[in-house]
Amino acid sequence: MKIKLFGTRGSIAAPMGNAAYIEKIQEILERCIDNHITSKEQIPEFINFLPNHLKYTAGGDTTCIYLQSKSGKHYMVDCGTGGRVLGDELMKTEFGKGKGEMEFFITHTHWDHIQGIPFFKPIYIPGNKLNFRSPYPDLENRLVAQQVKEFFPMPFHATASTKTFQTLEKGQVLEFSDGMRISFHPLKHPGGSYAYKFEEDGKVFIFATDAEYTGNDIDLVKEISPFFKNADILVLDCQYTLDESFTKFDWGHTSYTMGVNCATIWNVKTLVMTHHEPAYNDRKVFEILDEAIEHKRNLGGSPLEILLAREGMVIEL
Ligand SMILES: [Zn+2]
Ligand SMILES: [Zn+2]
Repeated sequence: MKIKLFGTRGSIAAPMGNAAYIEKIQEILERCIDNHITSKEQIPEFINFLPNHLKYTAGGDTTCIYLQSKSGKHYMVDCGTGGRVLGDELMKTEFGKGKGEMEFFITHTHWDHIQGIPFFKPIYIPGNKLNFRSPYPDLENRLVAQQVKEFFPMPFHATASTKTFQTLEKGQVLEFSDGMRISFHPLKHPGGSYAYKFEEDGKVFIFATDAEYTGNDIDLVKEISPFFKNADILVLDCQYTLDESFTKFDWGHTSYTMGVNCATIWNVKTLVMTHHEPAYNDRKVFEILDEAIEHKRNLGGSPLEILLAREGMVIEL
């Protein structure tokens, strides 16, 4: 399967402002001078060796991920503001001609996970089919409520695509015609949230946001281990630093240290940290990646690979 991340910011969209942009340019130009860059030919290599916070931006859009199975079937989880960008990409495919079908999974309906739906262009194209699947029996009503006239000019059901809703039962496992197997599991989060597990050809991808696990939840983390155990890739909510997680206890998100602890306990191969705190700039977010790797080293012996989710990142599994 191929996975692409379209929104990695938590809670609210946080586009880079001018001050942060200028700061980046300044730091890059200073490095240019220090490295005696004098020709255009030197630029690609120079960029390649820049530190992560200058080479990349983690991105400002909220949660949305896209998956494509080997046979080409389309899946997505959540449609935060990143869903606008995914929708624009899909419009270049059969979705632009009203011939697309999307299996659309929802973790929960906090704003940062559904706000992109009215801006997801394939929803307006007649002929497209969107199959919403979640454990929430009232999901349709929630999406209708988001688009009542006081909040959005077009009602949810005035959009021209065909929409179906399936309420998933506890423990239910979906098996699609392309061989993709999908299961889900509740996460500790105010109002609830669900992790989704995608399995194809023995490879396991799990998307788990929003989730709050602290040092007090070790027993719970062990208890839910069977769902997460041995995943090839786990994209997990790691919004906070450890210090901040203490001041934001009960806000529904995990610290990166606890995220690493969970991934280690669950024997995950690769942890991708996501749902970045909107107040953190790229420097801070990529520092958290370095610190998470350091924390893993301090745990000793864990072969866990740790990556930072950034918009546009593609993972092949
Ligand atoms: Zn969220
Ligand atoms: Zn949430």
